[in-house]
Amino acid sequence: MPELPEVETVRRRLAPVLEGRVFEHVEISDARLTRPLDPFEVARELEGERVELVDRRGKYLIVRFESGRALLVHLRMTGSFLYANGGALPDDPHRRAVVTVDDGSDVAYRDVRRFGTWLLLEPDEVEAYVDARVGREPLEDAYRSKHLAERLAGRRAPVKAALLDQRTIAGVGNIYADEALWRARIHPLTPAESLGPDEVKALHRAVRAALRAGIERQGSTLRDYRLPDGGEGGAQHEFKVYGRGGEPCERCGTPIDKTRVAGRGTWYCPSCQRLGAAYAASRSSRQPLRSSRHSSV
Ligand SMILES: [Zn+2]
Repeated sequence: MPELPEVETVRRRLAPVLEGRVFEHVEISDARLTRPLDPFEVARELEGERVELVDRRGKYLIVRFESGRALLVHLRMTGSFLYANGGALPDDPHRRAVVTVDDGSDVAYRDVRRFGTWLLLEPDEVEAYVDARVGREPLEDAYRSKHLAERLAGRRAPVKAALLDQRTIAGVGNIYADEALWRARIHPLTPAESLGPDEVKALHRAVRAALRAGIERQGSTLRDYRLPDGGEGGAQHEFKVYGRGGEPCERCGTPIDKTRVAGRGTWYCPSCQRLGAAYAASRSSRQPLRSSRHSSV
């Protein structure tokens, strides 16, 4: 699933293609993309809008129009864009929409699993919609470890689960959460609230470093993610732990282990990322609570 580095890469590629251009013709061929709204109506509304900025918040791609409206695109699992400059788009059974802009070029949207969404928002709806769903941008200069500490405080959930919550940090998903926790030497099951100030600082640095490494390689192509020119990202070749079960940790040589956290496959180094005493204490104190809950059902 595309995370911040993948969506940011798409944004950077689409910005020069779309900014300043008018959506001349829009065809949306899959009603799931715009539901519950009618795809034909959404397409008609989009026609004539001039793009001011191709923006991003977390995993949302935001096409901001001069009118103040915005098209919010979420790629979910397998959404991607393909840009055809003058030439014809190749046949594609998974194409869901095509935007023709006023220089004659086409931008197609394809989605194999069809979980992606296009949402057209009015000027007064945009910021409130996004702010309700997405936390701070981790790569902004103003993002400090105190902001991360505020979002982790009081949360008993495993730190990995807290990182997957988009309101904790915008744009971190399963891949970059694992990568960041390895960089910070923090076990993914560590309760978020038990991290000390130094660990939070390390995690703050690690999240930013992992995301920057992903952007540098133009995101990671594991299956469906593609750049708008059809190319693939290369970040998957640089992963420290994600998908590397059994391979030696680059720091200590211990084989990378795999577990599940919050229902998601999770990779970590069992030597570099140890569960602290705080975790053991919280588990043993919670054990009776858990078993009594079970017996009551
Ligand atoms: Zn290690």
